[in-house]
Amino acid sequence: MRKDDCIFCKIAGGEIPSRTVYEDELFRVIMDIEPAEKGHCLIIPKNHFDDLFTLGEEEATKMMPLAQTIATKMKEALSCDGLNIVQNNGEAANQTVKHFHLHLIPRYTGDHNQEKLIWNHAEVADAEMDEIFSKLK
Ligand code: 5GP
Ligand code: ZN
Repeated sequence: MRKDDCIFCKIAGGEIPSRTVYEDELFRVIMDIEPAEKGHCLIIPKNHFDDLFTLGEEEATKMMPLAQTIATKMKEALSCDGLNIVQNNGEAANQTVKHFHLHLIPRYTGDHNQEKLIWNHAEVADAEMDEIFSKLK
């Protein structure tokens, strides 16, 4: 499963070089070219999936154990104080590359992202909270 016009298919397949920190049959983990913080990496499945909604079952199952391994390595190697996992789906959620990827962003106390990588609280009335709850449960 590969898309000819997809940059992450080319990176995952090794056609475009990247700083690959880990690779196996299913995934390539690379350093982000425009890091939010020093050591920002992306876990990219080698097969093409647009987003979380279409991600393969095997990839979905093996993603979080791999994220844990890479995060642990980051903590040891970079001595980061924290770490964000970010995963964007769709333009409305700021996805710019339409090939599923999981961001691992090491965080450092007092780093320059204090105001970002967080969200603003939405004003939602109690009645609407209940309405949404009834749709989700
Ligand atoms: P998104 O906004 O889709 O969740 O994130 C896309 C990420 O891919 C961005 O953080 C961007 O810097 C990274 N990126 C885009 N093109 C390349 C590339 O060619 N090489 C690498 N290493 N990262 C890339
Ligand atoms: Zn792709």
